[in-house]
Amino acid sequence: MKEEVTLMIHLQELDTEIVALKREKIEIPIRIAELNDEFSRLTESLAHEQERAGILEKEKRSKETGLKEEEDRLLNSEKKLSEVKTNKEYQAAQKEIEEHRIQNSLLEEQILLVMDQLDALKTDIVQKEEELTRTTGVIKADIDTYTARALVIEDQVTQKEGVRAKLVKGLGTSYLSTYERLTRTFHDEPVLVKVRKGVCMGCFINLPPQFFNELLRDRDIKTCPNCARLIFLDEEPEKDSINGVPA
Ligand SMILES: [Zn+2]
Repeated sequence: MKEEVTLMIHLQELDTEIVALKREKIEIPIRIAELNDEFSRLTESLAHEQERAGILEKEKRSKETGLKEEEDRLLNSEKKLSEVKTNKEYQAAQKEIEEHRIQNSLLEEQILLVMDQLDALKTDIVQKEEELTRTTGVIKADIDTYTARALVIEDQVTQKEGVRAKLVKGLGTSYLSTYERLTRTFHDEPVLVKVRKGVCMGCFINLPPQFFNELLRDRDIKTCPNCARLIFLDEEPEKDSINGVPA
């Protein structure tokens, strides 16, 4: 195999690694934003429930004050009853007492209802606080891992790009410009592919016999007449050949 072919193969390996690292790095800020969103969701949900609990506490206190006032009114009415002089006054006082009692039991029911809601809410708040404590640790650790990974990727890309620059210097421009143009066309997918048993491993089409013979003779890089990828002869022995007979 010509040295230039080996260099081109190495170049593509490097580019594949660089592309994979860059793709991984692009995802990292997205993952970190998702984690921050999750944290915000939990914090906001907890804050919302705490706010609701505050409103219910206030409602409970206001109803308790109302009940206290209503109880005082009931006592007054009962006192009035003992001081009535006519039947008419007696009936009026009785009616007043009855109304206050109804009002009292209504307020008591409402207070119990608010207390039930508060109890359920407080249980929920405790659960959410625990979840937040737990999740915050996990989220923070994940963000740290992603941040560290991004730095490692940056280093690796710089290092690989350095190797690539040196490699490109040792390479003639003959294949390089075609290779780089094709890389853009094929959106960073491999454009330098093997030919195995006369078949282009990029498009899986049989090469014309004459063309294949030239490839065998020259041991150089050529352009696949079907898919336009750069092709070279696979000179490694077949690993998966039938009956272990090399191709
Ligand atoms: Zn092809």
